Amino acid sequence: MEWDEIFALLESWREKLKEEETGKKAEDPSVSALAAERCRDPWAVLVSTILSLRTKDEVTLTASRALLGRAPAPAALWELQEEEIARLAYPAGFYRTKAANLKNIARILLDRYGGKVPADMDALLALPGVGRKTANLVLTEAFDLDGICVDVHVHRICNRAGWVSALKPEQTEESLRRDLPKKYWKRINALLVLYGQQICRPLSPFCSRCLIHHRCERRGVTRSR
Ligand code: SF4
Repeated sequence: MEWDEIFALLESWREKLKEEETGKKAEDPSVSALAAERCRDPWAVLVSTILSLRTKDEVTLTASRALLGRAPAPAALWELQEEEIARLAYPAGFYRTKAANLKNIARILLDRYGGKVPADMDALLALPGVGRKTANLVLTEAFDLDGICVDVHVHRICNRAGWVSALKPEQTEESLRRDLPKKYWKRINALLVLYGQQICRPLSPFCSRCLIHHRCERRGVTRSR
């Protein structure tokens, strides 16, 4: 697989987009943006990643800022009532469930990890509401460790293009961990999320504008623009 060429094309596309559109469309996904804003604070990355699940980028940013403003550390969140956490998390998707999970996570972090977020995949996966996507994003964005965050965009594009053949995001992650050079592990999420939102759209991708079409098998694409 010509990974160097694919990543060079995606990076140049993103740079061009940034120059052309100064608006938020060219920005990195909300969690990456918030991680940069909060100096990669692991608690902030964990909270915003949880809030981001099934939630639009702009809502994630607003809700994360509101919640982290009141609860900049696990101890402060533990002091809040669950209702208050839910109010601050609104209108993020499943905000009540996320509020309950966050309260439990704060307790576990205080009980077992001295109020710190562990830099360990298994420890993260043991936290309520934390799956592989969240754990990978915390490891990469907060701790600068190797990880591949596979969300719906990464999963869809990698399979459409024929770079992997996987039914589930976990299997896509497994294949990428095997085939993708490590230097691209942290970058693939931000690039493909943006590409998936703008070009390789779920229902009808803009194949006529796609820079990597010559590296794509267009598997399962029945309609395109
Ligand atoms: S050619 Fe079409 S399906 Fe393939 S990556 Fe580009 S936009 Fe997506």
